[in-house]
Amino acid sequence: MPPLNDTIAAISTPRGAGAIGILRLSGPQAAEIAEKRFKPLGRKGLLEHSPRELVYGDLLDSGGQPIDRVLCTYSRGPASYTGEDTAEFQCHGSPMVLALGLEALFTAGARQARAGEFTRRAFLNGRLDLAQAEAVGDLLEAQSREGARHAAGQLAGALSQKIGDIYSALVDVMAHFHAVLDYPDEDIDPFRLEELENTLAAQEGALDTLLAACGRGKLLREGVPCAIVGRPNAGKSSLLNAMLGWERAIVTDIPGTTRDTVEERCELGGVPLRLIDTAGLRDTADPVEKLGVERSRKAMEEAGLILVLIDSSRPAGEEDFALLQKAVSLAPAILVWTKGDLPPAPVPFVDMELPPAVTVSAKAQSLGELEEAVAELFPREEAVPYGQLLANTRQEEAARRAREGVRRAREALAAGLTPDALLTDVEEALAALGELTGQSIQEDVTDRIFSKFCVGK
Ligand code: GDP
Repeated sequence: MPPLNDTIAAISTPRGAGAIGILRLSGPQAAEIAEKRFKPLGRKGLLEHSPRELVYGDLLDSGGQPIDRVLCTYSRGPASYTGEDTAEFQCHGSPMVLALGLEALFTAGARQARAGEFTRRAFLNGRLDLAQAEAVGDLLEAQSREGARHAAGQLAGALSQKIGDIYSALVDVMAHFHAVLDYPDEDIDPFRLEELENTLAAQEGALDTLLAACGRGKLLREGVPCAIVGRPNAGKSSLLNAMLGWERAIVTDIPGTTRDTVEERCELGGVPLRLIDTAGLRDTADPVEKLGVERSRKAMEEAGLILVLIDSSRPAGEEDFALLQKAVSLAPAILVWTKGDLPPAPVPFVDMELPPAVTVSAKAQSLGELEEAVAELFPREEAVPYGQLLANTRQEEAARRAREGVRRAREALAAGLTPDALLTDVEEALAALGELTGQSIQEDVTDRIFSKFCVGK
């Protein structure tokens, strides 16, 4: 584990030029380093200003020469993000200014922060629990509006609160049975026993609810892998472009992990979609590739949603419906009639159960029906308030173990087992819940979580 007794610094804004770039400094020497490298324009020294006040002045290099005119905020620990003394310099967003500024902080005694080290310090100093610290990462990487709102809710403590309630109810149960162990001669009042069973049942129910909503969390985090298939000229690349340019869509370029193209993502009907094999839709110059039979078969196999496109302005053929049938057998599918701005051709009778069907026009940028159909296939769980979704496999696994512990405790209670048998189970449940918020977390798990962050966060 990196030591806490040194002072760390990093550039906290993304690479590249921007209006503003932020340098962050945190640790026991933050005050001393900031005073050395920042000269306020006014008479008052930096530390004479109130904490967290924005102070205007020059960021200086080791020779005392100005690097940039900046705004500096100094926060005194523990009332800061990391819980330590921290300073933030809002510079002009020039990569050179930021590099020089960082160098100046290093020569004054700071060292380069590691990935996620600011947030890690916030966790170690008790400013955030582990679920909240993870939410910081999720918020930065959110792929949809809903994903961002859940991460913000979790950062504000919604999940921690929920887990805390379960934790505290189980601690009560433990306390009761410990008392029973200490006074073995006294029988437990049957009324009290029923009350304990109710408490355990309620906690199991709460964990069930959390676990049931897990799928939504995964979906928001990873996006639904979506394949766009259809015969040549059905309008696939036009729809793709329309989806990516859809005014209500968020488009991000995430470097693909398996090939060097970018993976395209968009949000439709509030659902984040990860568009599979869009490269295949775009390089239409190659006539063999244009048929794309093999590609679309593979894309359909990976998909969690298949959009099957049929040109509504031409008579649909057997091939179209064969593709549709194949799609329906593989994943939730939507039949998308394209080119809705053109006069429709008659639709032939087909002897199959059709998936939801919508009409779109890429040309007229009319995707409303598709948006609604996608939203309907992946409905938002209104019952789950923002932030109360288990956000990742680690949290899910811990919640699952907690539920198992509670379930075994209930069984033990029902079988009339001795309190000590039950206590072990409840203890296990508590330990699992503790892992969720980081109360009883092991260091290697902590390492893994923070290593996923980037530097400066
Ligand atoms: P792909 O081969 O399935 O990718 O199909 P394209 O997207 O390349 O479209 C084939 C042809 O249909 C092109 O000439 C497009 O301009 C045309 N097209 C695509 N979408 C629409 C639409 O919504 N309306 C009209 N009128 N034409 C469209």
